[in-house]
Amino acid sequence: MNLVALTGAGISKASGIPTFNEMGNLREKLSRSFFENSPEEFYKILIEMKEKIERAEPNPAHIALAKYNIPIITMNIDGLHKKAGSKNVIEIHGNLEFVKCPKCNKLYDFDIVKKTIYCNDCKTLFQPNVVLYGDTIPLFFNAIDLIGSADELLVVGTSFYTSTATELVNRAKFAGINVTIINDKAEENVPKFLQSVFK
Ligand SMILES: [Zn+2]
Repeated sequence: MNLVALTGAGISKASGIPTFNEMGNLREKLSRSFFENSPEEFYKILIEMKEKIERAEPNPAHIALAKYNIPIITMNIDGLHKKAGSKNVIEIHGNLEFVKCPKCNKLYDFDIVKKTIYCNDCKTLFQPNVVLYGDTIPLFFNAIDLIGSADELLVVGTSFYTSTATELVNRAKFAGINVTIINDKAEENVPKFLQSVFK
């Protein structure tokens, strides 16, 4: 069985990562226009998110997916799949590992924004490595390709409010790929599901 997983905020709930809805009007603030209009406040929010993320540990759902070497497409920017040991992870919404100077084309460790949000060399505003509302998803077609290589798609903890998740799942169904959805108690149900599939 060639299984690929698509994961969203629900998989990290048991790790103590709040979902966007629980964080208030974050959806609005993680937009391209908010970033461009209020970059200082934008980066303050990202720094807070990164601090929450660094304190979080993968839960049994992340760990089970890593143990069975399941390739993952995640909409989360919390890095918990990699922390659990997964190697093949497409982070379609990016991550908080680095920022980029769009002019020098250089990457900097994310923590530089605690000191400055402008490039030391050219004074350009750093770009976050996260996909913002209003952006296109650069790895979207990598995700489509990976799903196309699967014969089963396991969807975990995605609210179908996000059009990206809906579109990926619809494409999988259209291609005749079997789709299993786990939305509740991922930390119990994902390990159970994988055990039953790979027994
Ligand atoms: Zn620069």
